[in-house]
Amino acid sequence: MQIPLVDLKAQYNSIKDEIDEAVHRVIDKTSFIMGEEVRKFEEEFALFCKAKYAVGVANGTEALMLALKVCGLTSCDEVITVPNTFIATTEAITMIGAKIVFVDVNPDTYNIDINKIEEKITAKTKAIIPVHLYGQPADMDTINQLAKKYNLKIIEDAAQAHGAKYKGRRVGTLGDIASFSFYPGKNLGAYGDAGAIVTNNEELAQKIAMLRNHGRTKKYLHEVEGFNSRLDALQAAILRVKLRHLEDWNEERRKKAELYNHLFEPFPEIITPKVLENTVPVYHLYVVRVKNRDRLQNILKIKGISTGIHYPLPLHLQPAYSYLGYEEREFPVTEKMSKEILSLPMYAELKEKDIAYICEVMGAEI
Ligand SMILES: *Cc1c(COP(=O)(O)O)cnc(C)c1O
Repeated sequence: MQIPLVDLKAQYNSIKDEIDEAVHRVIDKTSFIMGEEVRKFEEEFALFCKAKYAVGVANGTEALMLALKVCGLTSCDEVITVPNTFIATTEAITMIGAKIVFVDVNPDTYNIDINKIEEKITAKTKAIIPVHLYGQPADMDTINQLAKKYNLKIIEDAAQAHGAKYKGRRVGTLGDIASFSFYPGKNLGAYGDAGAIVTNNEELAQKIAMLRNHGRTKKYLHEVEGFNSRLDALQAAILRVKLRHLEDWNEERRKKAELYNHLFEPFPEIITPKVLENTVPVYHLYVVRVKNRDRLQNILKIKGISTGIHYPLPLHLQPAYSYLGYEEREFPVTEKMSKEILSLPMYAELKEKDIAYICEVMGAEI
């Protein structure tokens, strides 16, 4: 028995005809850059998020960087985010020359601790990037109140949370602007790199639409110097197909999470994910916490069950950020969770009997 952490092949097999048709449609037209597929995907993804605008870009990292840029962030500014995210979040801050400022996370939700933000705000703070980690929305009302009080921009990192809801609203519309990644393993994944920004602000959307395509307004007329960060037309066509299934896939993920939660009930040593009131998560990852994590992970591996750790070394302790001068014990919640978290197999096609087997192995070994 082999159970992968994610199974992209099973998903492809379930929609093969639709995907193959979309790919051939693009190749037949030999329309590979921008064009109708990109425009339509942007319309459809904006509609899905119940936002006014979506702009396709090359990947989620550049989506974040462009969002920070059009929000007016520069090299004098500080940006607050969390140390328990993928390095792309902080790379985007450095790309525009701003300074990374970390805030520890809440031990229940693993999202930014709203009670620890204010003490990190200085005269230089210009933005907060809440990360909706594992597909669970951050506590946006409190974050937005702080933003109002201190005149800060809010850029949601929604790379793991396509379709998640906070108080009835989709992530992507809960701050000034949001970035999404369509990396293949994400809830909405392309067949290569892809990303998007989502916003209700027309000016921000137009600026990004210009910047992602060499700062141009017309062919060979460049308003500013920009970037080559376009969403590929082939990826857009694939994403349009997959977007039609996203709601169902997210619902399936929630069902799998409920089954895991239920089967782990007899084992209080296994700490299951807590869901913030008034939110609908999308379980990009199903993450439990256990003591003896490394031993358990090894046993699961021997039994054919793939798992992951998201993330094993917090960003403030990464060699890349030694220059920031953070030390161990500075973010105790993040550091403790990094030693206990374990991501279990999670995807829409995961079988109930596989979940039962995983829970049985874990229950016996805990
Ligand atoms: C995947 C991810 C990104 C980066 O997206 P890419 O498309 O790989 O550039 C950014 N932030 C978070 C939290 C992610 O999980």
